[in-house]
Amino acid sequence: MQHSMMWKAQQMGALTFYTHDIRAYSTTAYRQVDDTPYGGGGGMIMKVDVLVRAIEAVRGDDTCPVILTSPQGRVFTHNVALELAQHPRLVLLCGHYEGVDERVRHFITDDISIGDYVLTGGELAAMVIIDAVVRQLDGVLGAEGGAANESHADGLLEHPHYTRPASFRGLDVPDVLQSGNHEAIAKWRRKQALARTWQHRPDLLRRAQLSEEDKYLLGEVARAAAEARRDGRQFF
Ligand code: SAM
Repeated sequence: MQHSMMWKAQQMGALTFYTHDIRAYSTTAYRQVDDTPYGGGGGMIMKVDVLVRAIEAVRGDDTCPVILTSPQGRVFTHNVALELAQHPRLVLLCGHYEGVDERVRHFITDDISIGDYVLTGGELAAMVIIDAVVRQLDGVLGAEGGAANESHADGLLEHPHYTRPASFRGLDVPDVLQSGNHEAIAKWRRKQALARTWQHRPDLLRRAQLSEEDKYLLGEVARAAAEARRDGRQFF
């Protein structure tokens, strides 16, 4: 949180970030926050009474979302980031060990997974959520290019980027990008974004809102890919 965009967001007042030690809400001498599972089995479970005390103390009278990070939650996407960016305040609850007592669900408003894999704790998931949400706040990206052009913003992956040198070990920057023809560059970029999404994430393409021009460009991509396959050439 002390670097790059998250640091800048804090400096410009777009983000205020607090961490709260859940142990501070334990009432035992050893500040215990977990206990063995009912029914047996391995692992420790974070205690509902401690977690709810923490949630209530942090949230106060606010009605802001309280999000449990969980591999079982709804999957975090660009649209979820946009949705969360509408709220002035978010409380993110990080699980650990085997997870949290199921009754905590009555005291949260949402549970979010950052992907279909299991992390050791919710801290990294919380950082991912904060980063992606903060990038959507007005003014945070500034001159680095608006969030609107990035992958997933319009349902597609972004076009490829190049910078100097123009040629590196026989790999050349496409001529069009050096042509100065802004219209041709915009069209090339759109076609590349479509081609890239078609290649890597056809699932996104099925849901994307495509114009007639996009469909035409995709037709060109599909034809060129089929020709390359037929001639034994690499297309992508
Ligand atoms: N036993 C749990 C299960 O199988 O569903 C996994 C618990 S995990 C080891 C501990 C904590 O890490 C979770 O309570 C959650 O806060 C966090 N976590 C793990 N994977 C995550 C994911 N994919 N997305 C968000 N949070 C995750």
